[in-house]
Amino acid sequence: MDRYPDEVRAHTALHVVKGAVVRVLGEDAMWTASTYVSGRHGRLTVKFNRKPAPEEIREIERLANQKISEDLKVEVLYLPRDEAEQRFGNVIYDLFPIPAEVRNLYIVVIRDKDGSIWNINACNKRHTETTGPIGGVRLGKPRFRASKQLLELPFDVVDRPG
Ligand SMILES: [Zn+2]
Repeated sequence: MDRYPDEVRAHTALHVVKGAVVRVLGEDAMWTASTYVSGRHGRLTVKFNRKPAPEEIREIERLANQKISEDLKVEVLYLPRDEAEQRFGNVIYDLFPIPAEVRNLYIVVIRDKDGSIWNINACNKRHTETTGPIGGVRLGKPRFRASKQLLELPFDVVDRPG
């Protein structure tokens, strides 16, 4: 578990948690407004229209941990921006823009076991090579900011027991 720094684990967890968020809350939650990582702590903020129920948060956590235990490959592609947009569409982007002068993108793709895309995002940060080394995630209390229609989902990465 000390192969990767905590921040690399927590950052990679953002991608896994985001996939779970979209599965549980639907396409309305597909746009990331901001991300934050410090040590083992992370926070994913998505555009959304309500505060999720506690059961939904538990389901997001369960699904994310399932994908971590499945040790899915974290693939990084380096592509001309036009090509990346043609191949994958706007889904690679977040609400915070990548400057127009950036012509090549690192595209991080986590594929589910059936080959479908669990999460895809243009991201130039460092990631674990598979999801297993993240260990696990524990979600904290969500915060919904109604005036901004933003849902903040804090989490911590934890060591897998055993
Ligand atoms: Zn990333």
